[in-house]
Amino acid sequence: MEYRGRIAPTPTGFLHLGHARTFWIAQERCRAAGGIMIYRNEDLDTARCKPKFHAAAIEDCCWLGLEWEGEPINQSDRMTQYEAAFRKLRDSDHLYPCTCTRKDIQEASTAPHSEEGEILYPGTCRQAVATPENQPASWRFRVPEGKVIEFQDGHFGPQRFVAGIDFGDFPVWQKNSAPSYQLAVVVDDAEMGITEVVRGADLLASTVRQLLLYDALELTPPAFFHCELMRDENGQRLAKRHDALSLQTLREQGTTPEQLRADW
Ligand code: GLU
Repeated sequence: MEYRGRIAPTPTGFLHLGHARTFWIAQERCRAAGGIMIYRNEDLDTARCKPKFHAAAIEDCCWLGLEWEGEPINQSDRMTQYEAAFRKLRDSDHLYPCTCTRKDIQEASTAPHSEEGEILYPGTCRQAVATPENQPASWRFRVPEGKVIEFQDGHFGPQRFVAGIDFGDFPVWQKNSAPSYQLAVVVDDAEMGITEVVRGADLLASTVRQLLLYDALELTPPAFFHCELMRDENGQRLAKRHDALSLQTLREQGTTPEQLRADW
């Protein structure tokens, strides 16, 4: 099978050094396997995504020396596919409507936390017999109790996550009728024939949820390779820094792509 990889930025800000290294590793793995890369613009969050960030990301990726086949694919053009997957999950009873707000979940005293500090959904709407009409609902994936997800990561080796401890029921469809990141990415990676997903280690917990979706949608998952997160000299994750060492800034300061790549 031909290796197919992807570069999939979300245009809510400028790309930083961490993105650049992850994308570069993705391309190196693709090259080594003699495969091809595609570029997917993950622009579903219409409130936060901006065309100027998409344009800057393309410019930064070209500057860095990344190459992909064809035109960038916009997630915002693919709603029909996401809707079909949502219906399939809903009709096969994998989902339930949920009217909880973020605040409700944070305030639920019973809500357990994962080791990563993430609040797990306490299951408030799981048993509801009927959802009140007129009340906007999102749709959550019903994770089988005690479900264990195991997979082999290309970089970190064997991974094991347990439902109720590491992750809980998660949203698949949002109140504003948009797919969640988890659903869109699974539908896309499967349909675009991606054979290996290379992404930052901060998305390990997402990979686990996505594996559940592959299973429920009867799709074959790709292989996964999670990259170490880059930190600054104080150990802070780059993504959390306001200036975030953006590629735009580094370029303005005269840094060359070769200088960046020398440390990777
Ligand atoms: N678009 C996501 C992000 O920029 C990454 C998607 C993925 O690798 O699945 O964080």
